[in-house]
Order: sequence, then structure tokens, then C-alpha cells
Amino acid sequence: MITDLHVHLRPDDPGATAADHFTDENAERYQEVAAERGVGFLGVSEHVHRFAQALDVWDHPFWRQNAVDDLDEYCSFVGEREAIALGIEADFVPGREDRMANLLEGHDFDYVIGSVHFLGGAAVDMPGEWDVWRGGEPERVWRRYFETLGEAARSGLFDVLAHPDLVKVWGAGRPAPDGDLRRFYDLAMDGIAESDVAIEVSTAGLRKPVGEIYPARPFLEMCVEAGRPVALSSDAHTPNDLAFRYDDALELLDAVGIDALAVFDRRSRRLEPIG
Ligand SMILES: [Zn+2]
Ligand SMILES: [Zn+2]
Repeated sequence: MITDLHVHLRPDDPGATAADHFTDENAERYQEVAAERGVGFLGVSEHVHRFAQALDVWDHPFWRQNAVDDLDEYCSFVGEREAIALGIEADFVPGREDRMANLLEGHDFDYVIGSVHFLGGAAVDMPGEWDVWRGGEPERVWRRYFETLGEAARSGLFDVLAHPDLVKVWGAGRPAPDGDLRRFYDLAMDGIAESDVAIEVSTAGLRKPVGEIYPARPFLEMCVEAGRPVALSSDAHTPNDLAFRYDDALELLDAVGIDALAVFDRRSRRLEPIG
């Protein structure tokens, strides 16, 4: 079975409203395209920062700009659709673990995808005023990113770790550290090995300046070595990006010896053979 469980029902721009995108017509379009492309397990995972309830967790100015929708409405909209699993993409905000746990426990998610998009108040993958790279020194940014990723795994808040080496998103567009990158991956690996989290293999990086799957093969090999299962997703924000370039992803999975994918029901995980 092929999966796509890191999926957004709308683009990231604030003008893409819930009213326009959390509709039967839009959800059915996603289901149709997923079926056409052989996706046997489809789930959606809206960004937590789009929901007013997220401001109880964190009040970053970017979240304050975006937190307008109602989380309960999203959960009941998706919850009523048999063919779509209910997920959420939640940031790991160090120091706010209890608050995030409260938000997550209050809803019937099938799974929670954990992301590191911010280091303190600075954004890893967002140009503009919060861009971590406006003064970020690559060795330091990469260290901090992977240390935070390891903490996210260890927090136990998440079923899946999203786009695990997101820090590479800009490719040659930002400074990058030299040499063997495994010295950074190592910083996350204790937390990952001691957790029960699944590792996302995401084709979203192929649509970004870096032009690579997340994570890099050596990182994925380290996670597999540590016994972690894999969740396969596209991070689509439109129906057309569902299962984006999965041939590349399946080739990578085969090369590292992964023959089954994680799927979730009410936060319990099972593995489905890729077949
Ligand atoms: Zn993300
Ligand atoms: Zn996403």
C-alpha cells in the first residue's frame, strides 16, 4: 500500500480560507486524485498555526497572523469522511510541550505529525523578517536544528517526524556546512532511537530549491538502523501534488530496505506492506 498522510487541503497563503477549502467538493477532488495515483491511505494534516486554539500554545507573531480557523470545525469536517484520516501538523515548541499536549489530547486525531519550522522565534523555511538565515551561521543553525529535532522525537508528542532535514530547504540559496553531514544527524539520533516516532520520507523537498527528498539517504539509513518505521508523504498543498514523484521515493525506500509503511488509526500505528 502507498500512503500520503502529510497533506494540506489548501495552500499556505493566508488568503486560502477554510470556507473555500474545507468543502466536500475539495475533499472529493483530493480523494479522486489519490485514488488515480494509487494512494491507498490518504490523510490530511493542516498546520496547527492556522487554528485559533494554537495561540494557547504559542503566540509567535506569524501564528497570530494565521490563527483564525476553528480546530473543532476542522476535526469534525475531516472526521465525517471515512476515506480520509484525520491528522495535524504540529510544531515542536520547546518549553510548551504541556500546552501542545493539551491541545492535541482534546481531539480525535488519527496521527500527529511533528515539525521543527522554528528555532526560537526564527524560521528555518520562511523568507522575510523571521528568517533564521538573516545572520545565521550554518554550523550553528544546523546544530541547533538537529538538536531540536531530537528533542521533538523524545517529547513523545508526535507519531511522525516531518521533513526531517528541513534545514537544507534552500539548497545553494543559503550558506551550508561543509563535509560529512552525519555529524549533525548524530545530534538528533539519540532522541530518535529512544522514541517510538515514525520518520517521514517526503517528496516535498523535490519541489523546493534544494531539489532533494527529505531526509537525505544517510540520515534515513541511520533512522532505519535505529529501528524506526517510515511514513511516506508528499506534503501536497493542492490535489495535483499528491503522491508527487513517488517513483523517486520508492526507489530510495527500496535502496535502504524499507518494504512497509506506517499508517495510523486513533494514534495507533501499524505497518502496511508496500507490495
Ligand atoms: Zn512542515
Ligand atoms: Zn506540511
